Amino acid sequence: MENYMTLRIKAISENESFARSAVAAFCVPLNPTVDELSDIKTAVSEAVTNSIVHGYVGQEDGEVEIGVQRQGTRIHIEVKDAGVGIEDIDLARKPFFTTKPNEERSGMGFTVMESFMDALEVEPNSPRGLIVRMTKTLGPSKKATE
Ligand code: ATP
Ligand code: MG
Repeated sequence: MENYMTLRIKAISENESFARSAVAAFCVPLNPTVDELSDIKTAVSEAVTNSIVHGYVGQEDGEVEIGVQRQGTRIHIEVKDAGVGIEDIDLARKPFFTTKPNEERSGMGFTVMESFMDALEVEPNSPRGLIVRMTKTLGPSKKATE
């Protein structure tokens, strides 16, 4: 079963909870567990928040595009912005790395996305900004340890 959706939102924090709920609602037909749905919501929330607070810092007209694709029991999520981007992506992904230590940021956003999803890729967007790609397979066949 294949399906997809795309969501374009104005980059303001008011839209963050809408975005994560929309992605969660899209995933519901796959019959996810409460934990899986909560993991997806948290990961989307971290990525969208990053685009708003880091990508478009001080910019009024930013947009975030959230794309979700379903392939069988696998969910691919893409969060794209055209903001300032990240110079050193490997460094930014490290736990506790933040460029905003004075604004209640703990530098754990990418670490959370990575641990709650099966895979995380972070790439520069062209001509500017960031693309975050995340994948998660839902259902009992996922991990032998669970
Ligand atoms: P937390 O997510 O714990 O509140 P944080 O946002 O600083 O803190 P991460 O989400 O891990 O931590 O991001 C690490 C750093 O990567 C950020 O401090 C910021 O410098 C940079 N960053 C992340 N996403 C973007 C983005 N979309 N555009 C520009 N810079 C980004
Ligand atoms: Mg963050």
